[in-house]
Amino acid sequence: MPETIFDKILRGEIPSHKLYEDEHVFAFLDIAPLSFGHALLIPKERAKTLDLLSDEAGAALGRVLPRLCRALKKLTGVSAFNVLENNEPLAHQAVFHVHFHIIPKPDENSGLGLRWTPGKIEHPRAAELAAQVVQELAG
Ligand code: 5GP
Repeated sequence: MPETIFDKILRGEIPSHKLYEDEHVFAFLDIAPLSFGHALLIPKERAKTLDLLSDEAGAALGRVLPRLCRALKKLTGVSAFNVLENNEPLAHQAVFHVHFHIIPKPDENSGLGLRWTPGKIEHPRAAELAAQVVQELAG
C-alpha cells in the first residue's frame, strides 16, 4: 500500500492536533472540519479500506470510538454527531488509509450533510444475500 499523509502524521512529520494515541490507534482533529471538533480515528495498521483491516486493528478502533465520541460530545457541548467511514473514491474516500470521521452536528447547516433516498426492500433477493453472508462469515 502506498504511503499516505496519515503515515506522516503518525510519524510526527506533519503536525496534528492529537486527541488520543495507544499501541494500535491514533486520533486527531480534521484539517478541514465540517464542524468544530470534527475528528479522525485511524488504525496504525496500514490498510486502504475497512474490509482489508485485521480483526485486531478493527477491535482496537471499536474499543476507542465510543470513548472518543463521549469526550467530543462533552467538550463541544454538541450532543448530535455522525460517525462516517468512506471506502474508495466513489464513496468519497480521499485518503487511502482507513479512518473514521466523528463529526459533531450542531445544527442543520453544519456537520455532515446527507442525501438519503430510502428504497424498497426486495425480500427474496435480500433473503438470498443474507443467507450467503451468513455462510461466508461462518466459513
Ligand atoms: P475521506 O474523504 O478520505 O474520508 O477524508 C479524508 C479526511 O482527511 C478529510 O476530511 C481531510 O480534511 C482530512 N485530511 C487530509 N489531509 C489532512 C492532514 O494533513 N491533516 C489532517 N488533520 N487532516 C487531513
